[in-house]
Amino acid sequence: MFEQITIERGHCTLCNGWGLAISLPLGGHPHLDGPLLCESCIRSAVKAADVLKTLRQAKATPPKRTRKGRKSSGKAPTGHPPKEAVSSLVPGPD
Ligand SMILES: [Zn+2]
Repeated sequence: MFEQITIERGHCTLCNGWGLAISLPLGGHPHLDGPLLCESCIRSAVKAADVLKTLRQAKATPPKRTRKGRKSSGKAPTGHPPKEAVSSLVPGPD
């Protein structure tokens, strides 16, 4: 995307902080300066790019079809036996 990356000292385009920054020439008219980005802003931009990547990958993943073939809950086991069924296994209070 960028033909070259240069290091300059100046104000960051995003946070306006002064110091060493990376210049990303856009390859257009020489008088059109590319953005000058400090290390902190570049690291933040990478994290933001990771968010976009996650969203893109989540969108590309087909949804799981877990609801297809869903049965009615008429005879579905509840996971808990009725109280009468387990009471016979427990010694009585004799
Ligand atoms: Zn910055």
